[in-house]
Amino acid sequence: MRVDVVSIFGEYLAPLSLSLIGRARAQGLLDVRVHDLREHAHDRHRTVDDTPYGGGAGLLMKPEPWGEALDAVLAAPPAGDDGRGPVLLVPSPVGEVFSQAAAVELSAEPWLVFACGRYEGIDARVVEHYRARGVRVREVSLGDYVLNGGEVAVLVVVEAVARLLPGVVGNAASLTEESHAAEHDGLLEHPAYTKPASWRGLDVPAVLAGGDHGAVARWRREQALRRTARRRPDLLAHLDPARCTAADLRVLAEEGFAPDGASGFGPAPGAVAH
Ligand code: SAM
Repeated sequence: MRVDVVSIFGEYLAPLSLSLIGRARAQGLLDVRVHDLREHAHDRHRTVDDTPYGGGAGLLMKPEPWGEALDAVLAAPPAGDDGRGPVLLVPSPVGEVFSQAAAVELSAEPWLVFACGRYEGIDARVVEHYRARGVRVREVSLGDYVLNGGEVAVLVVVEAVARLLPGVVGNAASLTEESHAAEHDGLLEHPAYTKPASWRGLDVPAVLAGGDHGAVARWRREQALRRTARRRPDLLAHLDPARCTAADLRVLAEEGFAPDGASGFGPAPGAVAH
């Protein structure tokens, strides 16, 4: 996968040389290229920002350097590009909230381009222009809060996407057994333990050391359902009742949830939340 990042703070992306992502780059699984937006600002001070029309606090990123920088990136597709071009990801608090499902979709793409905003963001015409040109633009938000710039979002999205690429994470099975994985019905993961069996008076649940794989699987499923119901009941709205066993339905009923008549689960009528 090729990843191009345009930013005024390229140094911010140094962590992409570390750990599994750094190794994936060294192995040629991931080709990350960082571009300095200021290379495309041509005044003496290499200015990339200006005051907003209509007034208001702060400065906005000017469209001209962005247009020039993105045109240059788009003009140099990776070898074997199928002509569809990249997905252009624009981190922004007004974007779709980034999710594991989005990470899975993006991991199937050969080419991602990131445009990192700073100041009060990027002139709105930049997104409008590239959409109109047929570029697949996705504005992505990390969540309902405001950061100083898009670089942190790039670190998050690239890590979440790259770990799904074949060969990046040693044990591929671990990817499907995690929280939010579709194979795991989008549930939160069960609690997990390692040795020692007893620590500071806290014992590992006996079923996990009992050697009965079926019992372990049932315990983990039950814990995943209970945890999700208690911590993230919103996720149960996407749990397909058709994928639930009678035992799952009983556990969810105990937690106060029932099939909601649509495609997921909601609070059971008269249920008391835990
Ligand atoms: N004025 C913008 C607003 O109110 O929506 C916020 C701009 S923010 C200070 C500057 C940059 O940080 C954004 O252009 C974006 O690149 C990044 N950013 C801030 N919050 C973010 C979030 N929740 N998710 C992704 N990127 C974010």
